[in-house]
Amino acid sequence: MDKIHPIIANLSTTRHILKSFNLRTSKRLGQNFLIDKGVVDDIVYAADIEEGELVLEIGPGIGTLTQGLLEAGACVTAVELDKKLPAVLAETLAGYENLQVIQGDILKVDILQIMNNQPFKVVANLPYYITSQIILTLLEKRLPITKLVTMVQREVAERMVATPESLSAAKESAKTYGALSVAVQFYTEPRIAFDVPPSSFLPSPEVTSSVIVCDVRKSPAVEVEDDKFFFRVVRASFGQRRKTLINSLASVGFNRELLSKALEMSNIDPQRRAETLSLSEFATLSNNLKSLLH
Ligand code: SAM
Repeated sequence: MDKIHPIIANLSTTRHILKSFNLRTSKRLGQNFLIDKGVVDDIVYAADIEEGELVLEIGPGIGTLTQGLLEAGACVTAVELDKKLPAVLAETLAGYENLQVIQGDILKVDILQIMNNQPFKVVANLPYYITSQIILTLLEKRLPITKLVTMVQREVAERMVATPESLSAAKESAKTYGALSVAVQFYTEPRIAFDVPPSSFLPSPEVTSSVIVCDVRKSPAVEVEDDKFFFRVVRASFGQRRKTLINSLASVGFNRELLSKALEMSNIDPQRRAETLSLSEFATLSNNLKSLLH
């Protein structure tokens, strides 16, 4: 008979596990553990897990979300930075097959190798202190990820889906549109699935969180000749938000004359600000600027 596992995703079990292992949640490592089974189920549902599917979980903690993924039939590789937690996971998730726990930093491990060069989904309640860095690293490495389902701060989720001022009716959106929005939308089709209140975590974070679902595109949203150069232009353009596009780009060392020419070729007014440019305008600009530099 299959082993029946106690559900980790509730306050009393989480407290009990922490106490039994003499653990304290670490603020430095962004440890806010889920204590709401409904939220775990909704994340697993949003990830649309099929039996035997490969999932990379970043930061399994004491195994709360991992358990939901395993119950849904996923083969989970979980990377956890906290050295104390693999021993805890060995007990809280004892008896589950299809689980591999790796102790290490997600920004440093060879993800392609640990996922055996196979396509996979990423499902995670991310540590908030490095959310954007993790998402950008995963996307820029062009790993064979098909879907990313992650819990992030509501404000970060809004940045990921924000569109430029000129295309959006809501002025608010322009404030949050930046290099993260461009990168996420370049590689994926993102949508905010649902919000999660602070009371669903132990300890409760100060802000509301959101689960964001990013379906990775087969090819990027716009055609660029050189990804690295494109992102250099995007980052430089948003580098100094109050400056005009031409001044922001000139301040990182691009030649003014070439910039004027590239902007003219791209049909972009040099006095515009980065937050008004669409992905395709950034692509045209970076392609034209690159062609003039060579
Ligand atoms: N998945 C668990 C849950 O939902 O209850 C824990 C989520 S908690 C928000 C984030 C987890 O990421 C913590 O367990 C933390 O130790 C881990 N973590 C922090 N930085 C990490 C890194 N660079 N690489 C891998 N894991 C990390």
